[in-house]
Amino acid sequence: MNFYSLKKKAQNVSFKDAVIKGLAPDKGLYFPEKITPLPKDFFNHIEYFSNEEIAFEVIKQFVGDEIPETALKEIIIETLNFDFPIVKINDNIATLELFHGPTMAFKDVGARFMARCLAYFNKQENTKKVTVLVATSGDTGGAVASGFLGVRGVDVVILYPSGKVSDVQEKQLTTLGNNIKALEVEGTFDDCQKMVKKAFLDSDLISTKNLTSANSINVARWLPQMFYFFFAYKQLKSKHRNLVFSIPSGNFGNICAGIMAQQLGLPVKQFIASTNVNDIVPNYLKTGKYTPKLSKQTISNAMDVGNPSNFVRILEIYNNDISTLKKHLSSYSFTDNETREAMKELKQKYNYIADPHGAVGYLGLKKYLTKNNAQGIFLETAHPVKFLDVVEPVINETIAIPKQIKEVIDKQKVSIKISKYNELKQFLLVK
Ligand SMILES: *Cc1c(COP(=O)(O)O)cnc(C)c1O
Repeated sequence: MNFYSLKKKAQNVSFKDAVIKGLAPDKGLYFPEKITPLPKDFFNHIEYFSNEEIAFEVIKQFVGDEIPETALKEIIIETLNFDFPIVKINDNIATLELFHGPTMAFKDVGARFMARCLAYFNKQENTKKVTVLVATSGDTGGAVASGFLGVRGVDVVILYPSGKVSDVQEKQLTTLGNNIKALEVEGTFDDCQKMVKKAFLDSDLISTKNLTSANSINVARWLPQMFYFFFAYKQLKSKHRNLVFSIPSGNFGNICAGIMAQQLGLPVKQFIASTNVNDIVPNYLKTGKYTPKLSKQTISNAMDVGNPSNFVRILEIYNNDISTLKKHLSSYSFTDNETREAMKELKQKYNYIADPHGAVGYLGLKKYLTKNNAQGIFLETAHPVKFLDVVEPVINETIAIPKQIKEVIDKQKVSIKISKYNELKQFLLVK
């Protein structure tokens, strides 16, 4: 399978090159040349397949013959070594919990899959050592650190804004050591992001280093997110028709993977993109104008994105036709106060503790269901313990700390403070 750049000014590349490059040389996102729906029989018998078997059927056409079947199956087994349960909230609402992985956010699946693909390519001769450079506002850094720990031939450099990630998140990305380095940037997430972008354009660096990104622009992080939607369908298909998914969205990678799953034939009635006040996409669907803005800080901080990178992929799937897009995608935005009320309601009415991102998903779903008849699933993208300072005062209860978090919380933080781009550049050059 080849991938083309959405800017259409770069050469088409193989899966391997798309993973190693991250972004095309013309700065476009890579997109598969062809999407072939899976056979009807697969959907009719999906309940007899294990999660690993489902994932293999879903991803194999995109990987093509660049990773042999046995190696790809091995990668999938190692990626998916935790559960993806559906929890019933009421008669027509359920949640799909995606936080049972090592860092307790859904990004674990994409990070683990991408790390293992890179490790496989590195075993082949004539592949240079790869440096994964990533900026994080919180969850990405931890998932990437954990997913890439100990992967041979790969160095990971994580930039995070000093004092602006939660304690748990900081420990997750600064305590692992080995091939993982954390740079603590005096500045905001936007400053980290700018430095990373500058590095990808710096000819001194790209002539000597194999730099790649581990954000959802990378196809190996983005595409495995299709699995979740199949796992949900497998669990619910005997009971329900008319499934709709509400996805708490920031960079729109997760929801775009859901729409890809639908392109593969998964029966989904509607997708709902639920956002916080960073409402670029809801506004676009309302007005037809796409207006990126500076991001605003909210309590669902992993969705504080003012120009969602993956939205161009969604537009590509719908041939840039907004009227077709509107038929398949609804989008609503919510304030922090509404999000807190939703967390309270979920706890008081249904005894369910949601994190702020999941709560936004719940709100979007509820809004859609006031006018439509369907079975709704909202994705719970992180464990509430990752946002203790927000969740505990709202539900008025303390949350038990799971073992994955206990393991990191007492470890010693190791980071290197930087404030200027040149410090990043020197760090990368001497590595
Ligand atoms: C990253 C993240 C999101 C947003 O996902 P996108 O793919 O960027 O839309 C939502 N919730 C949590 C907890 C996240 O970490």
